[in-house]
Amino acid sequence: MRIDSRKITIIALSLLIGLWAPLSAFAGGNGESRKIVVFDSTIVNEAAQDAILRGVGGVVIKPLPMLNGVAVILPETAVGALAGRSGVSRIDDDLVIYATGRTPPPQPAQTLPWGIQRVNAPAAWSISAGSGVKVAVIDTGIQLDHPDLAANIAGGYNAVNPTKAASDGNGHGTHVAGTVAAVNNSIGVAGVAPQARLYSVRVLNNAGTGFLSDIIEGLDWCRSQNIRVANMSLGSSGSNQSFHDAISLAYASGIVLVAAAGNNGGGYGTGTGQVDYPGAYPEVIAVSATDRNDRFAVFSSSGPAVDLAAPGVNVFSTYKGSGYATLNGTSMSTPHVTGAAAVRLALHPTETPEQVKAVLQSTAVDLGLPSEQQGAGLVDAYAAALAP
Ligand code: CA
Repeated sequence: MRIDSRKITIIALSLLIGLWAPLSAFAGGNGESRKIVVFDSTIVNEAAQDAILRGVGGVVIKPLPMLNGVAVILPETAVGALAGRSGVSRIDDDLVIYATGRTPPPQPAQTLPWGIQRVNAPAAWSISAGSGVKVAVIDTGIQLDHPDLAANIAGGYNAVNPTKAASDGNGHGTHVAGTVAAVNNSIGVAGVAPQARLYSVRVLNNAGTGFLSDIIEGLDWCRSQNIRVANMSLGSSGSNQSFHDAISLAYASGIVLVAAAGNNGGGYGTGTGQVDYPGAYPEVIAVSATDRNDRFAVFSSSGPAVDLAAPGVNVFSTYKGSGYATLNGTSMSTPHVTGAAAVRLALHPTETPEQVKAVLQSTAVDLGLPSEQQGAGLVDAYAAALAP
């Protein structure tokens, strides 16, 4: 029996460069809002209050006799007319009150990150937004109640602590999940496949490190749940038979496996430049990183194992604490490819991992970089959706 003495340390492949603090207030935008309408009791009695509010399309929530007022849901168009009416003293907002210390940050109006646009995701959405495709984020977990992710989260498994939910105490997995499938709504960002179903598979602890055994368990869980795409923004320079066997078995079960090439480029890390495992295994789509000007990212690993390139510099996405952050790394480029795979699979659900990889590569955009840097080129979700 061969014992591999090299210690395998799996690490999350990102570099935190700064948190973005949202400043703009959340806008409801559905045409109605909760108000407290206060009446002059010498002019309007309680029965008349109800009639006035119903007359302008209001839905009474509850009377507030202490103030001679009423809590009511009012159409925006009714507020102005009501304010000028005889007997109405004032109209106040029915403010949202939070338990002290638990105030979630205000949610910014939705913007489309440059990487989402660069991989042609918005164009793809007219054909496919990855609807219903089961995508696992094998990572530090996901903030399960993040306001821009919660609607797409369908389940999860915590291999680090199986008695607990697969939530995210680090932020890395939440960021990755947003690039795959943040909801296309009025807030935050949108992912490449904003209608995919997200599964949080927690294999890395809050420091962003973990054991191979947890990844093996996570891959086995993905098999049992019929996951179609697994994003692994993680890696190790070490390889052994257990690692490769688990990857091979997951691949054979029909899961498209997408992994970070690694951050071993000249600027950071060990400087070896080589692609990490599992990305270096032939069953896995290894993703390098490019920047806004389509240049190869200085930190990105390179080599013959690189299959595709994707945006990995200044990537804006969801983050823990119901927030948003801008991060760098092949961790951030990988979920762009994962999202494109989901876009493709929603249209062609019977395609094998080998077929999905072939389509993503044949439709990728040649950036003119060496193949050891870009692989087949920059992933293009729209072109992958259009391909026969
Ligand atoms: Ca959004």
